[in-house]
Amino acid sequence: MQGKTAIVTGSTSGIGLGIAAALAESGVNIVLNGFGDRDEISRTTDRLREAHHVGILYCGANIADPSEIADMMDRTRSEFGGIDILVNNAGIQHVAPVEEFPPEKWDAIIAINLTGAFHACRLAMPDMKRSRWGRIINIASAHALVASPFKSAYVAAKHGIAGLTKTIALELAEHGVTANAICPGYVLTPLVEKQIPEQAAARGISGEAVMRDVLLAAQPTKKFVEVSEIAALTAFLCTNAASSITGSILPIDGGWTSH
Ligand code: NAD
Repeated sequence: MQGKTAIVTGSTSGIGLGIAAALAESGVNIVLNGFGDRDEISRTTDRLREAHHVGILYCGANIADPSEIADMMDRTRSEFGGIDILVNNAGIQHVAPVEEFPPEKWDAIIAINLTGAFHACRLAMPDMKRSRWGRIINIASAHALVASPFKSAYVAAKHGIAGLTKTIALELAEHGVTANAICPGYVLTPLVEKQIPEQAAARGISGEAVMRDVLLAAQPTKKFVEVSEIAALTAFLCTNAASSITGSILPIDGGWTSH
């Protein structure tokens, strides 16, 4: 993997940051993307660059905007020569019953969690076909396989990502490019921490009860999945040992979707 280049969307926080760090550790140049405090982001890029001696480029492209995704691809090509690995990880959540679900939240979740991944794949695929090697890894969710109440847009987007992943895998099967989706169960990142009070309001229970009876109730291991576990699986999918794994929808969910 040494010398290859990865774009990891939504990598200023949580799972994406863990994936970016694991790929950098394997010698991959990283395009870090996402929002956040500029000083903190610049400390992160310095830290990754110094620890792993790879190129790190920060690009604050809004994944809801196709023209900003295209600019990010162009900047990656000028900085590193092309795109070898694309990790579509940027994602947001909103929790509310369907009748009360704000239509603008629906649109934003579909735009970022699903349509943004389509645009990024569409724009990165020619680079991968040209070099006859590539890896597309979509960070889906256990919600790509099962539903939960009050998460209609998220569940719809994540089921959509599974379909997109399988389609791309078929289209690229003879080009040395694999496409897979990773489906984590609950990981204690800012995305989940934020939904604890929302879930509590929607269900009329305490935040503690949400952790115990809603989040970890779904996971037979009764443990949150670790960011490092998702990062390690992503890094493995990028190796040549994983070249026959394509079109796979891979749960990493403590047994949740075995129910
Ligand atoms: P997080 O909130 O910690 O990180 C989300 C990242 O996406 C941040 O870097 C944020 O800046 C970025 N982002 C948000 N909107 C963006 C936009 N419009 N353009 C560019 N970047 C944007 O969340 P996380 O828990 O690390 O989630 C990462 C992915 O993992 C998401 O796709 C999420 O659906 C998925 N996931 C999370 C869990 C979990 O339990 N945390 C479980 C399954 C799947």
